[in-house]
Amino acid sequence: MLPKNFDYYSPKDVEEALELLSKSGDSKLLAGGQSLIPMMKLRLASPGTIIDLSRVKGLSGISHSRASVKIGSMERIAELAASKEIASSLPALHDASLSIADVQVRDMGTIGGNVANADPSNDMPVVVLAYNAKMHVLSKKGPRIEDADSFFTGPYSTKVNADEILTAIEFPISAARHGSAYSRLERRVGDYALAACAAYVELDSSGKCSNARISVSGISGSALRLPEAEAELVGKLPSKAAISAASDKARQFANIEDSYYASAEIKRLATMHVVGESLEAAFKRAKK
Ligand SMILES: Cc1cc2nc3c(=O)[nH]c(=O)nc-3n(C[C@H](O)[C@H](O)[C@H](O)COP(=O)(O)OP(=O)(O)OC[C@H]3O[C@@H](n4cnc5c(N)ncnc54)[C@H](O)[C@@H]3O)c2cc1C
Repeated sequence: MLPKNFDYYSPKDVEEALELLSKSGDSKLLAGGQSLIPMMKLRLASPGTIIDLSRVKGLSGISHSRASVKIGSMERIAELAASKEIASSLPALHDASLSIADVQVRDMGTIGGNVANADPSNDMPVVVLAYNAKMHVLSKKGPRIEDADSFFTGPYSTKVNADEILTAIEFPISAARHGSAYSRLERRVGDYALAACAAYVELDSSGKCSNARISVSGISGSALRLPEAEAELVGKLPSKAAISAASDKARQFANIEDSYYASAEIKRLATMHVVGESLEAAFKRAKK
């Protein structure tokens, strides 16, 4: 099927993009087009106006400070997968970037588009949740920052309003000893995840877990944190038993539903597996 007719604009800066957004009631931003264009072809989305962000200056790039890594929303997933800096400072983000679809999709798809799309099966929402990232949003009224924890409001729904642009995602870097990892299970190579988990842990001076953030996706309406699983780890030394207790809590408390691809029972087992695997890798990295 072909998309419905639409007007196309290619602004050069954010001011022009915001002006266009404010003028049209049914416009959509175009980033890498890897979700929006298929949705338009299937007529699941039929915007009257497309505002292409690919020529807008200042929306891509990775900048480091002592306390955070800030990534422009138009940074391509392939750039993150190829970055040695991302591999060492944000390994869960790196793991996830390498596992998304195939080279062609990663070459075009952007971190901002993946997060803003908020597809329950997308990989980036779990990563921003696990790292407690700050989402930088801009409108004509000015900039604001949303916490990842409150950013996702449901399937395909976020706190970015129709007249706003997600401009960057900022990942805090803790001074504490920490580790992070990402794990996913898929039916076939290149598929969306059946279940995916991003885990972030911190260790105190005695080697006990002082902070844990576990998020999962692919199993219900949107990516979600699992506080019950996190509570199984905090205050304890990392061990197989603690990881296994956390994985079991994930099975019990993740809001797992049947889907076209797998029963809820299969997904529960898949969730346990990815939670266990990502926690093991995150603790191993934290101990180094
Ligand atoms: C064959 C195939 C396999 C895939 N497999 C996976 C997979 O395994 N895992 C996975 O995570 N993803 C997968 N994807 C999706 C892919 O990663 C997309 O690139 C991503 O979900 C959307 O990013 P995009 O840059 O292409 O955004 P677009 O498709 O351009 O936009 C997506 C949505 O986000 C909005 N948007 C984009 N940028 C902004 C912004 N800066 N501010 C506000 N709103 C914005 C758009 O208006 C649109 O509504 C797959 C896609 C394909 C085609």
